[in-house]
Amino acid sequence: MSREALDDLKQQIPLLDYLQAHDWRPARRLSRGRWMGLCPLHSDHQPSFLVDPSKSLFYCYGCGHGGDLIRFVELYHQVRFPEALALLHQWRGVAPLVQQAASYYRRQLHRHAEAVAYLQHRGLRSPVLIEHMRIGYAPGGCLRGWLTRLGYPLPALRQAGLVTAAGRDAFTHRVVFPLEGNLYGRSLSVAAPPHRFLPGAKGGLYAWEQVRHYPEVILVEGLFDYAVLWQAGFHNVTCSMGNHLNVRQYRELCDRPRTVYLAFDADANGSGQQASESLAGRLREQGVNVLRVSLPEGHDPNSFFVHDGHARQFRSLLEAARR
Ligand SMILES: [Zn+2]
Repeated sequence: MSREALDDLKQQIPLLDYLQAHDWRPARRLSRGRWMGLCPLHSDHQPSFLVDPSKSLFYCYGCGHGGDLIRFVELYHQVRFPEALALLHQWRGVAPLVQQAASYYRRQLHRHAEAVAYLQHRGLRSPVLIEHMRIGYAPGGCLRGWLTRLGYPLPALRQAGLVTAAGRDAFTHRVVFPLEGNLYGRSLSVAAPPHRFLPGAKGGLYAWEQVRHYPEVILVEGLFDYAVLWQAGFHNVTCSMGNHLNVRQYRELCDRPRTVYLAFDADANGSGQQASESLAGRLREQGVNVLRVSLPEGHDPNSFFVHDGHARQFRSLLEAARR
């Protein structure tokens, strides 16, 4: 890749945009438009990560890392230079489309009574929560038209997985949660597969930048579990979107000494318990204090709250959690 092509890539993806898309939040404004925030590269307790948006450079006073966008991607994803470039190319292609789709879906949510009714039925009632999770709704049959009118070519929509090979909206009658560079759609219809993601990685732990500074973290399997806990005031909750953690999620949980409360589903066939036992073992090897939360038989955190569980009762489950 030529020097010019590299400069182009860096110009097209401002470092600050990339950081914010990965949940980084500036904590303090400095002179000359620079920002300080928590460092995403080490376990930081006071903002020591400096970003200069005008130069697209960063420097951390804690871990001493610094550089440009590509250097950041190398460090953050722990990849080498060529892989960092590949990640950035892919991100540049897909990220704006996924963001457009997510904001379109958000506008649809309150226009479709069935979507709001479904959220209520799953115990998601608070407007603050809906705003926090940026929840949307995919009615189906309209996203393709919208994005095409905005000038996105059909092959790009297909490549992002938003439109099927047959040219239809991939998400139909689904409540949609934006993730980092991806979307999760939960089907309202029992006839369709319940869970769906766009192709590509599901990313790190959900809302990790907002959670990582807590010494005690609650880990759940599903975003509906996350939602009811967050709504009940447990803001130290995060979600792995399935009971199998990817490498990045695993690394995030181990990035400093902490206590992790595992609140996976207590399903009848025992696969949830097995998954949580094996995960607990691996995390302990890394020095993480893991406590397993026992939910009443057949419950997950979502159904626990939907069936009249209260924050106080869940707190007693946390207190009773065992190794
Ligand atoms: Zn640092």
